[in-house]
Amino acid sequence: MQKILEEVLEENRHLAKKGRVASYIPALAKANPHHIGICIAEINGNMYKAGDADAKFTIQSISKVIALMLALMDNGEKVFEKVGREGTEDPFNTLYKLDLPHTEKPVNPMINAGAIATTAQIKGDKFGRILELIRRITGNLSIDYSREVYISEKETGEKNKAIAHLLKARGIIEGDPDEVLDHYFKQCSIEVTACDLAKIALFMANGCQGLPSYGEIDRKTLYRNLLAIMTIGGMYNVSGQYAAEVGVPSKSGVGGGIMASVPGRMGIGVFSPPLDENGHSIAGYGIMKSLSHRLDLSIF
Ligand code: GLN
Repeated sequence: MQKILEEVLEENRHLAKKGRVASYIPALAKANPHHIGICIAEINGNMYKAGDADAKFTIQSISKVIALMLALMDNGEKVFEKVGREGTEDPFNTLYKLDLPHTEKPVNPMINAGAIATTAQIKGDKFGRILELIRRITGNLSIDYSREVYISEKETGEKNKAIAHLLKARGIIEGDPDEVLDHYFKQCSIEVTACDLAKIALFMANGCQGLPSYGEIDRKTLYRNLLAIMTIGGMYNVSGQYAAEVGVPSKSGVGGGIMASVPGRMGIGVFSPPLDENGHSIAGYGIMKSLSHRLDLSIF
């Protein structure tokens, strides 16, 4: 396994040159484009890593999966009265459909609009509970958020602000949209490593077992929703292509991370900051394709 990880990393390293580090959040432009890492956490407890698997980066959209977990635990499947669970051809930051008269709700919790509508449904201290759940699942109590990235995104996130206010105008979020956004920006700024992502992915691959309570949802329904929604929307408008090429429920973030859960087998975290035109780590996507072939990971 160790050898496979190292080979896959070297095979895909060149792809990073074809991508671009995210810069629409100014602090993300400082990421080191040469960083590249893989971590695998197997269900039997073995862990393997290669490259910069312990380098920190911001979790960004991968936090949407944790937010969905908490929203489901707080509200059960009533969450889907405010956000759908269908696929989309639109990019992650799409806005225009929210203003169409027949649109009832954002299409899924993985695009920004759906994620903001999901975080809004978490009770109490939304960000605090997301951070606490990530620390619990990874067992890494030192995980925290980057103040720099949070402030950078808060200062420049005009499109997300427009989305949150439109959601409020349409009655999809209750309360103060700017307060919800503040939690959303902080959750996206949580710093993790590829190994932290592998552990979160393993938790899901293992049926979400091990939490003291699941609130308003049962464990299997939670597990099925999370993995199904990652499959149909975790890679946004290329989720179908990714399902065919990789075939593993995954979620990407503009920090360069991809988190992938292979049911009953393993959790995978990959990291390389340069992105493709859809906002996915370009080398990360390549690594997932290679790993899927080499380890026969596709669930299909
Ligand atoms: N924080 C980012 C945003 O809202 C997350 C996007 C992403 O990772 N795709 O734009």
